[in-house]
Amino acid sequence: MKRRTDIELIPLGEGIWRINEFDLVNCYLVEGEEKACLIDTGAGLADIAAAVKTLTDKPLTVLVTHAHEDHLGGGVWFPEVFVHPADFRTARLYFNPFIKMGFLHTQNKRRKSHAVSYLAAFQRDYRPKLLPVNDGDAFDLGGRTIETYFTPGHSVGSVTFRDTRTGAVFVGDNVNLLTTLQYPCAASLEVWLQGAEKTLELAGDAPIYTGHGKNPLSKEDLETLIGWGKELAAAGNATPGKVKTRRGESKFPCIVYRTNRVK
Ligand SMILES: [Zn+2]
Repeated sequence: MKRRTDIELIPLGEGIWRINEFDLVNCYLVEGEEKACLIDTGAGLADIAAAVKTLTDKPLTVLVTHAHEDHLGGGVWFPEVFVHPADFRTARLYFNPFIKMGFLHTQNKRRKSHAVSYLAAFQRDYRPKLLPVNDGDAFDLGGRTIETYFTPGHSVGSVTFRDTRTGAVFVGDNVNLLTTLQYPCAASLEVWLQGAEKTLELAGDAPIYTGHGKNPLSKEDLETLIGWGKELAAAGNATPGKVKTRRGESKFPCIVYRTNRVK
């Protein structure tokens, strides 16, 4: 099945590209001297594998920050994808064609404008093998290494990757201007907080590349989110389990969480 390959490829310098899949999600390509690495695969609305081939012909390792459909869905274009084992269950769920069809329906405007048929959900070019990526795993690309840090929160298997050449961190959806912790596969707010603090420390003054929204995220934005996380955690659990949003004067940044999933 043919898909569009004309997705936006934005060079960020030093062998890093941001790949913007139809303004839905950002994926990143990092190229070393011997190998390259794709961080997140998009939703699969476009043929991201073909787009990557226009940038590099080096052997490619495919990693995802977490197993949500818009980050892992493009995994259908690759034989193997590294996912944290805590997200394996979610990953398998999203490769179910009926769940995929439901996702395509949520993206109906994009689906139509990019000529993606509902039948795309049943595409079987690849069913990628899920390989485990764990805290401490490192991928040597030649002259630079991608390090893995376990930062559960947005999903129980969320990880953050760090490029040793630039210090840049790739956070997926775990910290961004719309930090969502209300989905069924999310960890508690306290667990998220530990990962967010680790991310702040890891990033230092290097860019924090996100999956959606403001990009890169500023250190100040992340400090604001952490401050609010601490404040909510100190207030403790509250029942019943309502979905609440903590935000300041403007719409963003904000944290969406469940009141019974604080600790
Ligand atoms: Zn997500």
